[in-house]
Amino acid sequence: MTDWQTLLTTAAAALGLSVTDAELAAYARFLELLRTRNAQMNLTAITEPREAAIKHFLDSLTVDLVWRPHPGDRVIDVGTGAGFPGLPLAIHHPEIRVVLNDSTRKKTDFLHEAVEELGLTNVKPVWARAEELGRDSAHRGRYNAVFARAVAHLRVLAEYALPLLKEGGVFVAMKGPGGALEVPDSERALHLLGGVVQSVESLVLPEAGERTLIVIRKTRPTPSRYPRPAGKATKGPL
Ligand code: SAM
Repeated sequence: MTDWQTLLTTAAAALGLSVTDAELAAYARFLELLRTRNAQMNLTAITEPREAAIKHFLDSLTVDLVWRPHPGDRVIDVGTGAGFPGLPLAIHHPEIRVVLNDSTRKKTDFLHEAVEELGLTNVKPVWARAEELGRDSAHRGRYNAVFARAVAHLRVLAEYALPLLKEGGVFVAMKGPGGALEVPDSERALHLLGGVVQSVESLVLPEAGERTLIVIRKTRPTPSRYPRPAGKATKGPL
């Protein structure tokens, strides 16, 4: 096992998460591809293996601290960038189906290559704005869970995520320190979109500081006027 794989395994265990050898091998192949492609185009600022082990792989897996998947669940990672948190979660949970959504073509092109290289059969990259997917019947109301890390303020994210969820599904917004402060400013948006805050958890990643996981449950259908056309959520948040 390499140094970063040992670090990941130990740090995961400290949080009560376990990582198999097969998973570690898949993460290694993905990291190698990410580092190669990142040298040609900017995909992520974090590629040093020990840093990536914690800030990319372990951080992605912390979703498991607040969410329990069922076999066959459909989940979507909105604004996935180079695949976080959705790609590690798809490797960790081969029993679920994962859509990796990003509005930047070069990122979804990279993810198509990664999915092929790793032979993942439960992952589909989708190039689109999340607001477009929220108005597309193939995606609207179709997901058991939505994840988003480092994409936008919670009240903007809510307009991207809630339309995509089935009723009863959960949206996990992954935030840094102080993420909980976004909750009061988002109450109105959540109410309009049919969501309620279920929990706000904080945790500490070794040498990476505090993280906040905001869990929102969809309890009512999202009115058909949401999401508004692309760009409106960021320009005039609910
Ligand atoms: N989630 C990844 C992570 O934490 O490493 C990437 C975060 S990056 C800062 C934000 C990503 O969100 C970018 O790749 C950007 O293209 C994407 N994005 C921003 N607005 C979006 C939208 N409306 N729909 C889909 N993707 C979006």
